[in-house]
Amino acid sequence: MPVLVMKFGGTSVANLERIQNAAKRVQTEVEKGFDVIVIVSAMSGKTNELVGWVNETSPLFDAREYDAVVSSGENVTAGLMALTLQEMDVPARSWQGWQVPLKTTSAHAQARIEEIETHNINEKFGEGMKVAVVAGFQGISPEGRITTLGRGGSDTTAVAFAAAFDAVRCDIYTDVDGVYTTDPRITEKARKLDKIAFEEMLELASLGAKVLQTRSVELAMRFGVRLRVLSSFEEQNDNAGTLVCAEEDIMESNVVSGVAASRDEAKVTLVSVADRPGIAAAIFGPLAEAGVNVDMIIQNISEDGRTDMTFSCPTDQVARAEVAMGELKENGTLNFAELVADTGVAKISVVGIGMRSHAGVAAKMFETLSNEGINIKVITTSEIKISVLVERKYLELAVQSLHDAFDLDKAS
Ligand code: ADP
Ligand code: ASP
Ligand code: MG
Repeated sequence: MPVLVMKFGGTSVANLERIQNAAKRVQTEVEKGFDVIVIVSAMSGKTNELVGWVNETSPLFDAREYDAVVSSGENVTAGLMALTLQEMDVPARSWQGWQVPLKTTSAHAQARIEEIETHNINEKFGEGMKVAVVAGFQGISPEGRITTLGRGGSDTTAVAFAAAFDAVRCDIYTDVDGVYTTDPRITEKARKLDKIAFEEMLELASLGAKVLQTRSVELAMRFGVRLRVLSSFEEQNDNAGTLVCAEEDIMESNVVSGVAASRDEAKVTLVSVADRPGIAAAIFGPLAEAGVNVDMIIQNISEDGRTDMTFSCPTDQVARAEVAMGELKENGTLNFAELVADTGVAKISVVGIGMRSHAGVAAKMFETLSNEGINIKVITTSEIKISVLVERKYLELAVQSLHDAFDLDKAS
């Protein structure tokens, strides 16, 4: 039987009624002749609650126990989804990550999938099971501990299953009816895209468009998975939603395809560090070891052999950065005057593969922000994106004005 992967995000399984609604969609696909692998998220808000409890109990938590706690939300929805399907006479059972098993690295809280064993599930399909309901977001480490794949990780579970089982398609059911030119919650003018290139989706995702987890897009690109994003609340047909696909499969393309925003950014400055060879390695090596995901980096002009080193990272990692840098100062490895953390910034990015062949996008972006009186704190660019850090209170205004400036509400 051909295999179809269907993933339901938190809002799509937020209560029993919605689980029933999702189960009906699964039943329809089973009736079409598919063996279905359903990947479920935790009920919306559940993972946040669990993360909150962990933080309250232990601010610099042991990530193995964090995973033990936060993975539990998906166990509940997997069992409930299997029960709901059984009530509808659809042969189904649930699988937790370790039961599959879905094997990951030991990088707790941000583990990577190494392997998905297919024989256990295939055996059950062979015995007449029609639906395998798999708890998303979780796996098992080589040490036999439960791991999680980073926030939003159920998307990655879904794509990895689609690759492992050679599925005809991976459908991601969520609370929006596709990928938009920007977060539709920020501007009504956001426009749904029928198709988006893997490369663009990868950038948008990594720059804050949480509709798909970055790693899921990477995997889909690598394994050629047909990846579709669609709404679990609307009637669907085979062309619904947004198809994430190869660049060649897109006829029309804008210079800029989308604007992404990331709210939880922090800007950290180490004031007055020595300006000598090896200083960056001395700072960023220990930060990486402490699990701080550094994004942008700037080194300021040097004066009398001293300089300021500024970097950005997610807000919730600032405490770890402070501890790591504090230790270096204490043991004499690194000398700096003070660490200044600005946790009130946001990152705004414009993305488009057309930027490769068009100049002037950066100039237009900076001019647009300047016209709104928005000060730019840090800038980074790559081949197909430009990102800036601005004060968080300007997030919406920055996104709206850039969306207008690049005419993203109009199809090209
Ligand atoms: P799920 O719980 O289904 O995984 P998420 O909340 O993780 O859903 O992702 C869906 C949300 O992503 C949408 O509600 C929307 O606000 C947000 N989002 C951000 N950027 C975009 C975008 N460019 N297109 C569509 N949705 C976006
Ligand atoms: N429940 C997890 C989260 O909220 C994983 C997911 O929903 O994709 O991050
Ligand atoms: Mg999500």
